[in-house]
Formats: sequence, structure tokens, C-alpha cells
Amino acid sequence: MSVCVVGHSNPDTDSVAAAISFANYLKATGTDAVACMQIEAAKLNPESTAVLKKFGVAAPQTLMDAAGKKVALVDFSDIGQAPANIKDAEVVAIVDHHKIGDITTNNPILFHAQPVGCTCTVLHEMYKTNNVTLPKDVASLMLCAILSDTVNFKSPTCTEADKKAVAELKGIAGVTDTDSLFMEMLKAKSSIDGVPMKDLVFRDYKDFDMNGKKVGIGQLELATVDQVAGIRADLVKALEDLKKDGRHSVLFMLTDVVKEGTDLIVVSDDNALIESAFGAKVENGSMWVNGMMSRKKQTVPPLQKAFGC
Ligand code: MG
Ligand code: MG
Ligand code: MG
Repeated sequence: MSVCVVGHSNPDTDSVAAAISFANYLKATGTDAVACMQIEAAKLNPESTAVLKKFGVAAPQTLMDAAGKKVALVDFSDIGQAPANIKDAEVVAIVDHHKIGDITTNNPILFHAQPVGCTCTVLHEMYKTNNVTLPKDVASLMLCAILSDTVNFKSPTCTEADKKAVAELKGIAGVTDTDSLFMEMLKAKSSIDGVPMKDLVFRDYKDFDMNGKKVGIGQLELATVDQVAGIRADLVKALEDLKKDGRHSVLFMLTDVVKEGTDLIVVSDDNALIESAFGAKVENGSMWVNGMMSRKKQTVPPLQKAFGC
């Protein structure tokens, strides 16, 4: 049985690129594997779609239900971000760069996690350590994933290892200007023209359990926050609707990649709690948090602390 290599739900470019990269790695080292993702190709986010098209790589297969399958997980290890029926699957490997989640296994597995900015940085090291040849198109996708996850090295999650991986991958990929590659990706990612509100809200959205309370956090990375001025009222309405569905809070990060900060929309039962987490005041439904770029590193941990996790 082939190993299905799959990233988290609502896949981002790292989840897609890491699935393709790790499937290639497994095949090259003698394990039959296939790259998968938890979405239909037609619904994949615009950045990943643009990246696959640019480098001529087919989108991974869709995998929504893992029952009875052998799976390798990339870019996550939380049951909440896994395909349905993950408990009826055999997890054979995990490669990640997040905090360790709640997936458990019955047998020892390959588990490789590092506190770096991107799963593809971890994978790049695995290729190097084990002398596995990295094809040009796979290297190109990994390069894009690292630029995306580290926000072109600006995110606090970015490490020296990520920069080093990019320097090596761009050589294999034949890319000279990673800044212009990043801006091309940002343009695709932040395009909101004609995008249905629901797709915009869920483009990069995750629910978290915070001390028994459900908290949703979405993020849009923008070249400027002004890009959403015309749809802001509709966006807030959509977040309010989402909150009604059993959530204590819904936060939405409008991240200005150029100014390096986030306009954080807050829809919550307890604004004071959210304010205490970030040391800023909610005014007209949002707060500006200077320097906030990363949900994982700058939004989730202070919230968990405020919720008493
Ligand atoms: Mg990811
Ligand atoms: Mg990642
Ligand atoms: Mg990400």
C-alpha cells in the first residue's frame, strides 16, 4: 500500500510542497508514496495554485478520509488538522516544524520536527543528510514554501537554517531573485478581487481549543491593509456569523507584510481578555499589533496564556 503523504487541512504552500517533497523523498529511498492534500485542486489557495503552475507541477491528489490508509503527515501533528478518521489510519511518519500535537501511534515511527520556519527546511536537511537527489521542480516548490512560511525571512519564525536552505535551494531551482519571486507569490496570495467572502475567511484559518473554549484565528497576508477597506464590513459580518457557531472568539489577522504588523479584527465574548493578551485596545472592532506577522509564534501563545492554557 502506498503511503499517502498529507499536510494539514486548509493546505498552505508548505503543506502542498512538503507533501510533494516528502513523497519524492520516500520514493527515492525505497518506499512507495503519493503526495496528497486535504482539498480539491480547484479549491486550493491562490498562492499554492500559482506556484504549482509556475513550476509545472501537478497538484497533489485529494485525500479527505484516511480510514484504512498508511499516512505520513507533514506540517502538522494535530488530530484537528488531520483528514477524517485519522484514528483508523496507520501514521508511519511525521515531518513538521510546529509544536507537537495530539496524534499518537502504536508503533515507533520516523518523527522529524525542528523549530525552524518551514517544513521544507526540515525536508531539505533530510535530503542533504541522506544524499537524496533533489529534482529541480521539487526544489523550486520547497523554495517557495520557505519564502511563504517565513514571509520572505521577515517572520520571527525564520531561522538561519531557513535562510541557508533558501540559498542552497535557489541554486538547484535556478532562481536568482527570491525577492521578486516572493512578491509574485504575495500578489497571488493577497488577491481578493472576486473572491467569495467565505473563501477569503477560510483561506488560512484554524480553530484552536483554548482551555475548553473554541477560538478561531484566520489570517490574510496583504501588501497593504487598504486592500480590504472596501470589503471590511462584510468580512466582520462573516466573522460574527462564524462566532455564533459555538466559538468564544474569532480573530482575524490582516497582516501588512510591508509595514510588518497586523490589524487584528476581534469578535469575542471577552474583548478585555484579548486586549490583555496583546497589550492593545480594541477600537472599532480591531487593534493594530506592531510586529505581529506569525499566528503560530505571536498570536497563539499570548492567547493561550490569557486563556490560562
Ligand atoms: Mg502550514
Ligand atoms: Mg509550515
Ligand atoms: Mg503558514
